[in-house]
Amino acid sequence: MAVKEGRWDCQYCGTTGNLGRHRQCQNCSRSRPEDTKFYIADDAEVTDKRLQKLAKVGPDWVCEFCGTSNAADISVCGSCGAARESSSPVQGVKDYGLDEVPTTGDMTLDEDPRKSEAQPTDTSKKRMLPVAVIVGIAIVAIICLAAVAFLIFGGRDSDASVSGYQWERSFEVEAFQTVNEEDWELPAGARLLSQKEEIHHYDQILDHYETRQRQVEERVQTGTESYVCGQRDLGNGFFEDIQCERPIYETQVRTESYEEPIYRDEPVYQPLYTYEIDKWIVVRTENSQGSDHSPYWPRADLNNDERQGESQESYIVFFTDADGETYEWETTLDEWQQFEQGQKVILKLNALRELSDIEFP
Ligand SMILES: [Zn+2]
Ligand SMILES: [Zn+2]
Repeated sequence: MAVKEGRWDCQYCGTTGNLGRHRQCQNCSRSRPEDTKFYIADDAEVTDKRLQKLAKVGPDWVCEFCGTSNAADISVCGSCGAARESSSPVQGVKDYGLDEVPTTGDMTLDEDPRKSEAQPTDTSKKRMLPVAVIVGIAIVAIICLAAVAFLIFGGRDSDASVSGYQWERSFEVEAFQTVNEEDWELPAGARLLSQKEEIHHYDQILDHYETRQRQVEERVQTGTESYVCGQRDLGNGFFEDIQCERPIYETQVRTESYEEPIYRDEPVYQPLYTYEIDKWIVVRTENSQGSDHSPYWPRADLNNDERQGESQESYIVFFTDADGETYEWETTLDEWQQFEQGQKVILKLNALRELSDIEFP
């Protein structure tokens, strides 16, 4: 298993990056204390056999008498000669996930070159993106505002006068007649003439199954692989890879048989009725129209079996402006009747030169 050499920072003199193999600070010579935080500053693997051996001996212990940190394979303090006791503090062994492995010590939080370099580029990226988005939104907003402004302010007023009229009035005449009809149901008041069985609709009926083949994809576990899922702080200045196992999957295609249901259309018959029935039906439309200012309804010459049905009416005023351009204005009877021939009006034209409203001077 791959071994890496850790680093540690001296809490007495602030020296950073002491090598894991050193139990004394390379600047002030103080022994590293219990609970020293080890970190990995570079990913270089230890290949030196002697260092690999140091990594394997176990976590350091700290002399209770002089505070010196000692390797696990010696039982007497290298500084004062006191024996290791069962109560001697031991540097902890810690497991880290891959994204939790410390890369700086407590002293290097503000001085780590990677952090100070990364920060400005990070923030500039964060600022660059919103600027592009804001510019995009601004451009779209300006285009929308321009379009709205064109429609609102692009129009103009035009002086004109009433130059003509047009009106139309009509209504339907209905007669009470006997008619022949066909339907799946017999309405009230109908007199049945005949009936026959006809196809009303089709039902989907399961006829049989057919054995067919199809390709199916399956995720199949074909084995396992081990991978580095973390780092173990060995408590002696060295780190070791933590290995985890994970399944390996493969997508395999196989052919399988299945039963496909086959349907057939089964006609469903119902009686279709032919009948006669008396009802009001439109027999003609009476119409009157003119280009004067005096509309009237067409004369209703109704027979005994007839009545007046739905009516329709429309009223149009024409305006002509100084350029001889004529505009049409469809309106209600009330408004239409108030216009006078030659009356001055102000036409509200939109950007497309269409009449949108009328004002009176
Ligand atoms: Zn120091
Ligand atoms: Zn000692």
